[in-house]
Amino acid sequence: MSAPRPVFRFAPSPNGLLHLGHARSALLNAAMAEAAGGRLLLRIEDIDATRCRPDYEAAIHEDLGWLGLDWERPVRRQSEHLAEHAAALARLEAMGLVYASFESRGDIRRALENRPDWPHDPDGAPLFPFPRVATDEAERARRAAAGEPFALRLDMRRAAALARARGGPLDWREVPERGGEGETVTADPLAWGDVVIARKEVPTSYHLAVVVDDALQGVSHVVRGADLKAATSVHRVLQALLGLPAPLYTHHSLLLDDEGRKLSKSIGSESLAALRARGMTPDEARRRAGV
Ligand code: GLU
Repeated sequence: MSAPRPVFRFAPSPNGLLHLGHARSALLNAAMAEAAGGRLLLRIEDIDATRCRPDYEAAIHEDLGWLGLDWERPVRRQSEHLAEHAAALARLEAMGLVYASFESRGDIRRALENRPDWPHDPDGAPLFPFPRVATDEAERARRAAAGEPFALRLDMRRAAALARARGGPLDWREVPERGGEGETVTADPLAWGDVVIARKEVPTSYHLAVVVDDALQGVSHVVRGADLKAATSVHRVLQALLGLPAPLYTHHSLLLDDEGRKLSKSIGSESLAALRARGMTPDEARRRAGV
């Protein structure tokens, strides 16, 4: 029997137009898949219904096609698989690792007003400052039943301890974008605190959906931007708890603008569609994407 082919995926969110940073990620996935004799999937990460739009999704297909990329069909849309995410969430709940939090951003800001030394997560947000207290459980259940909005959080201390007890040391294999041996990276999930794992209306979050979908799609190689490297610590905890295999990871360097900022919609980075409209060729886009 021949070995299964490696599976790569590009997983954009249709909450804006793609820019050259996305092109870099997609092109690197394609190049690494080709070099490994692997398959390339496209996954639409559209669980945030308030920000995702069908026209952005259509633009993703158009931009990737323009870059000369091809991927397998059908394309998985995360929003069509919420039942699978909910099943994973139920397993974490059954392990006693999930709790409802009702505090707003404003509550969190006020609680930390006089705490300049309070730790922040790798994305720069303060760690959730209202630790889970066992005696609160009945009160939390009452507020949820009364219809108050809530976020479901992972009790990270317990989750990381149980993940280690089940799966051994929490680490992952990081493979350089140009290939080669790579290195083992030790996960640091406590740096994230009690992350949001689902919300009242949506039974999942980026972290949960990404590990569930990577496993269900048989993804063996995750190639994504270096800005997501720290999040892999959370993903390894979830994989260990849910008994999912750990893919190999490549967190590639990011394209920066003239001021050294990573490209993003929020700083007005020019979209591929706009560059195309200005006459940029796919070859030039590939060159600018550095792949
Ligand atoms: N959907 C995420 C994004 O657009 C990428 C997720 C991933 O590659 O794991 O930033």
